[in-house]
Amino acid sequence: QQPQPERTGLVGRLFGRDNAPAEPRRELDDAMLEELEDMLIAADLGVDTALRVVSNIAEGRLGRKVSSSELKGWLAAEIERIMAPVARPLPLYPKKPQVVLVVGVNGSGKTTTIGKLASQFRAAGKSVVIAAGDTFRAAAVEQLQVWGDRAGVPVMKAAEGSDPASLAYDAMTRAEAESADLLMIDTAGRLQNRADLMEELAKIVRVIRKKDPSAPHNTLLVLDATTGQNALSQVETFRKLADVSGLVMTKLDGTARGGVLVALADKFGLPIHAIGVGEQIDDLDAFEPGDFARALVG
Ligand code: GDP
Repeated sequence: QQPQPERTGLVGRLFGRDNAPAEPRRELDDAMLEELEDMLIAADLGVDTALRVVSNIAEGRLGRKVSSSELKGWLAAEIERIMAPVARPLPLYPKKPQVVLVVGVNGSGKTTTIGKLASQFRAAGKSVVIAAGDTFRAAAVEQLQVWGDRAGVPVMKAAEGSDPASLAYDAMTRAEAESADLLMIDTAGRLQNRADLMEELAKIVRVIRKKDPSAPHNTLLVLDATTGQNALSQVETFRKLADVSGLVMTKLDGTARGGVLVALADKFGLPIHAIGVGEQIDDLDAFEPGDFARALVG
């Protein structure tokens, strides 16, 4: 276990820590609400979400003397209420193979997440095939092979620079022939040329639909928690490029507390299927809204 970075809570700072009585109380007035709002914005919740959370907390409580633990409880409850509807594991369909297209910018953790998911599905008795669809990045293909080996899952590859759609089609053929339960397709994350990437993703979808008109069954967008508010614009961008059906947020083990997840849930309502909490194969957890809210509030 890596030592965890120190996590000072959001709310604690509103009360001051040293030499304070065991349970200091402070009047819940406009000044305090404004400080709270600033803190929520600084924690990446975004202005709209922060405003709404604060106004919900203030409702019926203005002028009351409140303790830090009361405020923490209310804040955690508000955040949990926003997050609860989006906490959903990746749905499993009886359809074989279930096709999971994985999208996201380079470095967000796509390869790692595919490896972790493959390992979890294998542990659950499912057979999995992975397609290394980022054919232009040799390093990405190699890295995916490493993860495939770790998870004990075959990785379909193609010559460097070859057509990802044709690889996806071949992978579909293999997954069908082997009656694999799942086919996970990695994709390129070059946002420098969006038109190209959009066409590439659309073509992958077109060819796999020749095999199965209901595919892909999931389009998973992988986001890096350490990019903060950037995650919002990545969701906006990728929703234009592909039919994103759910999210995985990686790197929630670092100093990033993932406040942007609250903004994402509030704004887009996309399911959060899992969270990445480290670089090892088992470091992928189900998203637990209560735990998340309490950790965020501190
Ligand atoms: P890709 O370019 O999107 O395929 O990203 P990779 O899967 O190669 O990941 C990029 C880097 O992030 C690698 O160094 C990974 O080890 C690291 N990484 C991925 N997920 C996590 C996570 O949940 N926590 C931490 N700490 N690192 C992660």
